[in-house]
Amino acid sequence: MLQRSMILCIRPMATSLSSAAAAFPLAEADLCVKCGLCLPHCPTYLDLRNEADSPRGRIALMQGLAMGAITQSASLEDHLDGCLSCRACEAVCPAKVPYGLLIDSGRAVLAQQRPARVRALAVLSGLLSRRSARRIVAALLRFYQRSGVQQLVRATHVLGHGNLARLEGLLPQIDAVSTNPPMTSARSEPDEVLLFAGCIGDIAERRLRSDAARLFDACGYELRQPSAQTCCGALDQHGGRPAAAQRLARINLDAFTGTAPITAMASGCGASLLDYASMLGDDARAFSARVRDPMRLLLMRADRLRLAPLAARVAIHLPCTQKNVLRDAQATRELLAKIPGITLLELDTEQRCCGAAGLHFVTHPAQADRLLAPKLAAARALAPDYIVSANIGCALHLAAGLRRDGTTVPVIHPLTLLAQQLMASPG
Ligand code: SF4
Ligand code: SF4
Repeated sequence: MLQRSMILCIRPMATSLSSAAAAFPLAEADLCVKCGLCLPHCPTYLDLRNEADSPRGRIALMQGLAMGAITQSASLEDHLDGCLSCRACEAVCPAKVPYGLLIDSGRAVLAQQRPARVRALAVLSGLLSRRSARRIVAALLRFYQRSGVQQLVRATHVLGHGNLARLEGLLPQIDAVSTNPPMTSARSEPDEVLLFAGCIGDIAERRLRSDAARLFDACGYELRQPSAQTCCGALDQHGGRPAAAQRLARINLDAFTGTAPITAMASGCGASLLDYASMLGDDARAFSARVRDPMRLLLMRADRLRLAPLAARVAIHLPCTQKNVLRDAQATRELLAKIPGITLLELDTEQRCCGAAGLHFVTHPAQADRLLAPKLAAARALAPDYIVSANIGCALHLAAGLRRDGTTVPVIHPLTLLAQQLMASPG
């Protein structure tokens, strides 16, 4: 375990920056006074009780690495890779330490020093950022599910009970390609909102776009999806490939010109778009200032929504990106409360990370399951009719956990629930 005395002495021991670490933001890391107030909010520290798996421990390790006081090792990589990037620590830090920036930069230093660690990520990112590749993946998955092969695979347990079976269990139901429905309201100048679809959402949440378009239309907005957009770059940014993330960010800056608000279906993508300002500086500040949570935009005009009653218990799962980065958790609660007869519940009052965390649920399955356990217990205790989550990764992780648990509760996007209750406007 990394002791506090060790944390405090790493910085003074340092003498010079290695060239690979020169870009690490040491001034921002120095804002951390090692007070430890973030520790009770850090899911990995609470899970492992190891200072090196806490925010201040990781900051100290990154300072040591950047200053040349410690060298890269498998153990160091484990501690930094084990971070969920949930940014719960950042949200409570009294010194306003930009922890998200630090962990991204720390992983970039690791990748500079050992490029092999990001090769698989580069392949995955290259695949997801190409629309043609996403279409092929979606078509193959749809065939796998529609042909009955998936049913056979699951019934026969041919994949065993290891990682492959776990990955298969995460697969969402792939919808047929859907296009946005035509806008029907007679408006002379509809307010435009630009939709960021997201690469995983483009494969796994295809119906969500038409759900969103119907809701935005009912509220007097015109939802438009710029065709030149690409992946938000979150996987690269959090995985230690900042140059690749910046390349994707610049494509999106060019795709989303103008001044219209930008909204992302997945809160994880929305958080990444918001971070473009810190990633690209002045070039992206105006872009990031236009990013809005879709629930907030709809809430601003909720008086125009005619929603059918729903006598159902709906448990809200708040993704970390919505809570700690976009910091607009209330809009989801307030908008869903507009559905007459609905009973809203919090899936987990502590609202810690569910363990999905980008690729964490794939790379760290045992810990992801431990972090998910309180959510599954809450689902059993609350027995909701629906669980809603605005982030596709959380939704997949929750749905797979519930299936393993034998709990049959649909996990859907809050926009899907609202669209389901949307009634046609009179006249
Ligand atoms: S990150 Fe913030 S809250 Fe955590 S130890 Fe550092 S200064 Fe304290
Ligand atoms: S981002 Fe989350 S997991 Fe990582 S150090 Fe902060 S609170 Fe812990």
